[in-house]
Amino acid sequence: MSRIALLSEEVASQVAAGEVVERPASVVKELVENSLDAGAGRVEVRIARGGASLVRVVDDGCGMDRDDALLCLERHATSKIRSGADLATVATLGFRGEALPSIASVSRFTLSTREHDAVSGTEIVVAGGRIREVRDGGEAPGTSIEVRSLFYNLPARRKFLRAENTEAGHVEHQLHLQAIGHPGTGFSFIRDGHLVFQLPPAPALRDRIRDLHGAGFLESLIPVGDGPPGPVTVSGLIGKPGVSRASRVQQIVFVNGRAIENPAINHALREGYHTALMKGQFPVTFLFLEMDPALVDVNVHPAKREVRFRDPSLVREAVTDAVRRAIENARGSWNEAFRPGPPAISPAPASAPPEAYPETPALIPEREQRVLRGDWSSFSPAPAGPAASAAGYESVGPAAPAAGYENAPDSAGGFRILGVLGKLYVLMENASGLVLVDQHAAHERILFEELRRRMEQQGVPGQHLLLPPTIAVTPKDREWLLGNLGTLQRMGIGLEEFGPSTFKLDTLPEYLMGGDPAQTVRDIIDELRQAGSGASRVRMGEDVIATTVCRHAVKAHDTLREPELVKLIEDLLACELPYCCPHGRPTMIQISHAELEKKFGRRV
Ligand code: ADP
Ligand code: MG
Repeated sequence: MSRIALLSEEVASQVAAGEVVERPASVVKELVENSLDAGAGRVEVRIARGGASLVRVVDDGCGMDRDDALLCLERHATSKIRSGADLATVATLGFRGEALPSIASVSRFTLSTREHDAVSGTEIVVAGGRIREVRDGGEAPGTSIEVRSLFYNLPARRKFLRAENTEAGHVEHQLHLQAIGHPGTGFSFIRDGHLVFQLPPAPALRDRIRDLHGAGFLESLIPVGDGPPGPVTVSGLIGKPGVSRASRVQQIVFVNGRAIENPAINHALREGYHTALMKGQFPVTFLFLEMDPALVDVNVHPAKREVRFRDPSLVREAVTDAVRRAIENARGSWNEAFRPGPPAISPAPASAPPEAYPETPALIPEREQRVLRGDWSSFSPAPAGPAASAAGYESVGPAAPAAGYENAPDSAGGFRILGVLGKLYVLMENASGLVLVDQHAAHERILFEELRRRMEQQGVPGQHLLLPPTIAVTPKDREWLLGNLGTLQRMGIGLEEFGPSTFKLDTLPEYLMGGDPAQTVRDIIDELRQAGSGASRVRMGEDVIATTVCRHAVKAHDTLREPELVKLIEDLLACELPYCCPHGRPTMIQISHAELEKKFGRRV
């Protein structure tokens, strides 16, 4: 007895719909993509009850004539490709010819469409995949598609829909993606009769993001781009170091105009931010990758959410480099934000407007200050690093020692040190207000960059251990260790094979001295092995440094004397990435005069 039967068109569509139409947001995605492919200048999306009861997408795109309107409801009907070869050069968002029939097979579906020069349009009513009615329509040029009662004929699927708010949230997210990917198109979103957002066509991405998220958010972003020309160009905006999210929801990446998810890119972003990103946090990105369509296979996921790159490492490198460059460039503007200390006002003119900030009395008692200042005579300021010289040394009026100094040391890099809070936070004043520095985080950053620099050059010198301990390892550890002895050596950790499952520890760098050497190295091996997956060797070394220096940096409660504090701040400002520690936590926080005034009720 034969067991195989061809599925009816209706069932086949429902099966296909299972892949394409997961939830109302997928309907919105497919319909909006069609509108964009149709060259729409404006798209209006309306949903009711999370989209389960209604999704309607109206556009002013090219529209369809009656034949096409009928044909577009057939499976595998598309105007976007003709041959298999075209798949390699798809420039449109759609190409599968499956969305409309799939959606129509699981809903009550109405299509109204009209070409711009046509006298009348066409309206087609479909229910559960069957055409019920075809008639003339008098609507405006463009296309309107209404999807009611999604999954009404598939109760099992309908049960999988989440709460209205959840589904509406997915729809909104989907629209954000489309709106960011296509700033030139106007979008409006109406939920249950209320306008959620209305975005006019925008000249550029920045304008679109400002319209969507506000000017304040835009300020937290830095531009990406201006890289050397190559097969993959990267542009867009990304979060400044320290700006991150607890999830990937604002990690948005487009490849040739298509919002996609790709593990290689996720990894590249992380690597680009490197220590500027806190562990467990995700970057904020609006990144646009452009490349020859032949370099990317878009036909690997039914909802076209994933792509496959012909050369993933090419893409990864392009993204990592672009992010790194953006962060480096941003450093300049960051320094500007943390401007030099308050202008010297000596004495404050009587007519000084309330906005001028005369010198703030230091928290250290006057008498003690002088004692501290006595120490300066033996202290020569470190050569100003790029940051310090950019910020400049400012004389800060009466507090600065009178003669004998060219540079007032207590204005380290343009900051005036006021004191130390709780043996941990250095309090400083700059032009914008109060700056708090986490001494411990600052020290980590400085040490981290120093070690990295040394590793890139001649390596970190190791110190010989008088009694070299031995470390027993598993066969897997052994294999891994043998492959990484060089990296470890560059960190100053000298290991030598000493029997079939034992290594001898000959040297340790100074920064790791103090504890139990064998245990320290064990921990490092474990961390290295974890961090090593997929990362290049130098990177791997940095990661380890980042995690190890943390434990060996100045402890929070070590008391620094003032010259050491000044040096700490100067060294920090000379760092490549002074504003966060190697784990992405901030090293300094600015509290502006305006904020203080608000807190004290001087300003509303
Ligand atoms: P695909 O987008 O993969 O081609 P669809 O099923 O989504 O497949 O759409 C089928 C065809 O219907 C498209 O190729 C396009 O020609 C036409 N079409 C769909 N939506 C619109 C629209 N909003 N405006 C104009 N044409 C449309
Ligand atoms: Mg489509």
